[in-house]
Amino acid sequence: MNSRDLLDFDRIHLWHPYTSMTDPLPVFPVVSAQGVRLRLADGRELIDGMSSWWAAIHGYSHPVLIQAIRQQAGRMSHVMFGGLTHEPAVTLGRLLIELVPPGLDKIFLADSGSVSVEVALKMALQYQQALGRPNRQRILTVRGGYHGDTFHAMSVCDPVTGMHTLFAGALPDQLFAPRPACRFGAAWDPKEITPVARLMERHHEELAAVIIEPVVQGAGGMWFYHPRYLTELRDLCDRFGLLLILDEIATGFGRTGRMFASEHAGIRPDIMCLGKALTGGTMTLAATLCTGKVAEVISDGDPGLFMHGPTFMGNPLACAAAAASIDLLRKSDWQARVHALAERMSRELAPLAGLAGVRDVRVLGGIGVVEMEQPVDMARWQDFFVRRGVWIRPFGRLVYLMPPYIINADDLGRLTEALAEAVTRAEKTGHP
Ligand code: PMP
Repeated sequence: MNSRDLLDFDRIHLWHPYTSMTDPLPVFPVVSAQGVRLRLADGRELIDGMSSWWAAIHGYSHPVLIQAIRQQAGRMSHVMFGGLTHEPAVTLGRLLIELVPPGLDKIFLADSGSVSVEVALKMALQYQQALGRPNRQRILTVRGGYHGDTFHAMSVCDPVTGMHTLFAGALPDQLFAPRPACRFGAAWDPKEITPVARLMERHHEELAAVIIEPVVQGAGGMWFYHPRYLTELRDLCDRFGLLLILDEIATGFGRTGRMFASEHAGIRPDIMCLGKALTGGTMTLAATLCTGKVAEVISDGDPGLFMHGPTFMGNPLACAAAAASIDLLRKSDWQARVHALAERMSRELAPLAGLAGVRDVRVLGGIGVVEMEQPVDMARWQDFFVRRGVWIRPFGRLVYLMPPYIINADDLGRLTEALAEAVTRAEKTGHP
């Protein structure tokens, strides 16, 4: 099929994330991806600054991951998880338990991040129900969060960017504290925790759990907040009988400089969601982990079962990819690499903070963010980046980099250079 036919069919028939079907933004046909390079149908190569939304931490087509997937596909690509089990799930389970904060040793394998959030929320509700507290059905969270696009996950996303008004009446009514304002790296301000503490004092009898992205709020604004907020939240949850759910779907597997972002705060959640980089970006898989206590309470309650069981639960192909990815990560010098990413991005993006039109520049681990004063014209900015040979996809006011950990210094330099050039050019016209 030639590119023209492909693009014509795509435009008329295929939804893309958050787009119109009648007036879609342009898309670029990609034919292969290797290392940090995406190859377009016209032969151009783009250096990837996105890791396909936090996922492709080892870059693309990594031989170890490809080999694991090939081998598993030859044996059994899928089999139902009801009544059957298999080595890829057990191997992955073992690896995860070794990696996560101790005690999170009951694992529900789901098929996407949003589903793992649904599972976490459902666990929290069943837990409270089993403890004889059926009124505890609401969830407390903070503004600026993002947890997925399914209905309950949406209900705990930021009400404005999550467009709650669009689905008003269909969404459960959750409780929102202000976004944690105290920056990562700034001095902790004890007043930060007061609003959420007040909400908990007032409403705990109707609250099942708190859900929050630890340290980094991703799609809700790429905001990095003080880890002490989480320590305080942990204490409050214990005091008021709420479960603490940490959504590490974006932050997990090293992106913030620690294996999991909760490690910045030294806390353990009751329930933890993982996804995205879990399979190194090769397949869709997520996991909801909980403590033995949560699992026991649910299992001892009525009906004595956890009520969830997707068709592709524990998909062997995805589990094999995830096990290989975790192994690869552990054997790599990911900490040094993420540290080097942070250093270089800090050095090269920091000067942009002085430009007109730039509100803020922040870097944490392998995430570099330039926040503009105004929303950017995504199509124009993206077109500029593609002409510069890089794949950087802004959203709203945010232009950011999140490259695969394996990127070399030259390629990283091309990403920061292109970003700096775009922002500098935008000083005058708002566009690169
Ligand atoms: N939680 C967080 C923190 C996320 O960043 C995302 C994905 N952007 C999700 C949940 C939802 O994951 P998925 O897109 O795989 O459903």
